[in-house]
Amino acid sequence: MTIRIIKGNIISAPEFGRIRITEHGYLIAADGKIKGIYQDLPQEYEGLAAEDYGDALVMQSFADMHLHGPQYPMIGMNMDMPLLDWLNTYTFPTEARFKDKDYAKEISRKLAAELAANGTTRICMFSSIHREGTLILMEELEKAGITGFVGKVNMDRFGGADYQETTEESVSETIRWLEECHFDHIKPVLTPRFTPCCSDALMEKLGKLAKECSLPIQSHLSENTGEIRWVSELHPDCSQYWETYLKYGMWNERTLMAHCVWSDEREQKAMKDAGVWVVHCAASNENLVSGFAPIRKMLNGGVKVVLGSDIAAGDKLSMFENIASAVRASKARRIMDDWKTDFLTIPEAFYLAASAASAFFGDAPGFAPGNSLHAVVLEDDELPSAKPLSVMERFERCIYRRQANAVRAVYSEGKKIFERE
Ligand SMILES: [Zn+2]
Repeated sequence: MTIRIIKGNIISAPEFGRIRITEHGYLIAADGKIKGIYQDLPQEYEGLAAEDYGDALVMQSFADMHLHGPQYPMIGMNMDMPLLDWLNTYTFPTEARFKDKDYAKEISRKLAAELAANGTTRICMFSSIHREGTLILMEELEKAGITGFVGKVNMDRFGGADYQETTEESVSETIRWLEECHFDHIKPVLTPRFTPCCSDALMEKLGKLAKECSLPIQSHLSENTGEIRWVSELHPDCSQYWETYLKYGMWNERTLMAHCVWSDEREQKAMKDAGVWVVHCAASNENLVSGFAPIRKMLNGGVKVVLGSDIAAGDKLSMFENIASAVRASKARRIMDDWKTDFLTIPEAFYLAASAASAFFGDAPGFAPGNSLHAVVLEDDELPSAKPLSVMERFERCIYRRQANAVRAVYSEGKKIFERE
């Protein structure tokens, strides 16, 4: 049995809104699974070597539950159009480049390295429509020690001449891709791009495939008002957008829906009743002027909410930044709601980024015993302070502000996948 003993200020989010801190404590894992958090080293581990990080913060690492790998080279660019124009003008041509295998490898390798270096150890990611490019992306993520799900995108209409499959191609390439997935830590997720880009025939086939192969599903929902109007024109039999996924058997407790900015009470209730996950991507929603999602209302109503960077509509890969974005967006939403909804606190938003997705991966929130070890070690000793700071104050600051090369080490599934030189 391999024992890993990590020493430092251990920080976790075992419940929504609550941070557990064990100052100068021990986080112990055996064969990659957490045994517990201890103030003093239990006798049975005495004499074993500890990884002592001194006064550093040892916190849960992050799950980025919505991002587009092939859009990685576009980060920071092209945020001057609303969703549908942005897709046609910038995004589809960029994703189409993933057809080139050398290019796909280079982009995937850089993305995987940057995820690891920023403490993102779990992902649910869109690839492109390309089977080979998707396998390359999965392989590079696996090699970098990232875990989670990646999906080959399905789209058989409205992608333009260079970025679209026939219905038959989309289905047969997806089946072939599923057969060729052979990774230990990166698993397939079915990925209809969004309702407008998938014909009824394709949606029907994908729904059947999801059921037959027991696959999770990821897509987009109610991001932008123009998109919602378009969906209602394409599916006049559905009174709301979400019903287009329900109609084809893709609306269940393993469905992740990005955005949900304009989901009203009925749509929110449908999510809660089916156990569908909302992936909140605040930075993206601001960049594409989509709106401010009613996250507090969803949380109060019992909807499951997790966070995503949504690169490259989102402009930051780091989940520290995306937590801050979620808090800021919730403050804007408070203003929109006549100061009637509370904004997200840092502990709440941290929970959404670090703990909320645990159940999707079969874990419990926080550093719970039995969980896979996913952790990030952060140093902040070079930052100025006007007074001695508590660990809680340092934790809250690190969401907004980190010193250069603050991340000292990252652990994923029990393995150290990043170490600062
Ligand atoms: Zn997206």
